[in-house]
Amino acid sequence: MSSDTSINGPDVLRRHGLQVTAQRLAVVGAVSDRPHGTADDVYRLVRAELGAVSRQAVYDALGALTDKGLLRRIQPAGSPARYENRVGDNHHHLICRTCGVMVDVDCAVGDTPCLTAADDSGYEIDEAEVIYWGRCPGCAATTAGSAGAGTTDPGTTSNHPHQEKERRDRQRQ
Ligand SMILES: [Zn+2]
Ligand SMILES: [Zn+2]
Repeated sequence: MSSDTSINGPDVLRRHGLQVTAQRLAVVGAVSDRPHGTADDVYRLVRAELGAVSRQAVYDALGALTDKGLLRRIQPAGSPARYENRVGDNHHHLICRTCGVMVDVDCAVGDTPCLTAADDSGYEIDEAEVIYWGRCPGCAATTAGSAGAGTTDPGTTSNHPHQEKERRDRQRQ
């Protein structure tokens, strides 16, 4: 179903006009090993593999790979950006409000833009980005015993919005 295996390796970097570096290869590998990880998650994995590598180098590699379409960046409200290598199939995401775990859900229709807008206002729509929010089975089971205390407030999921904004601004430079 997914095209994960096709985006590994130096050839793909070259084909997308990117210079092949150890950092970029390690970043691609890390994202493929741990889809939907944050930039910090990727940094930890890359550092474990390469040893000395700066956080900024990993962020730069993520930015370059995302710009070239090798990786996809998902930016859920109130959460750090997540990265994945499953690109181009217009799949969507489920996110647990409680633990933040994100999983793929296939495109509801099968191809982009998936959803038909009630009114397109004359726009040529080419994509609909859908995030389904809720509670994962694990979290639902954990809080089932304490009914009443488990109300989900979207405001409480905003852990590091400012920090994340800074990071994105840096990636754009
Ligand atoms: Zn959960
Ligand atoms: Zn995904």
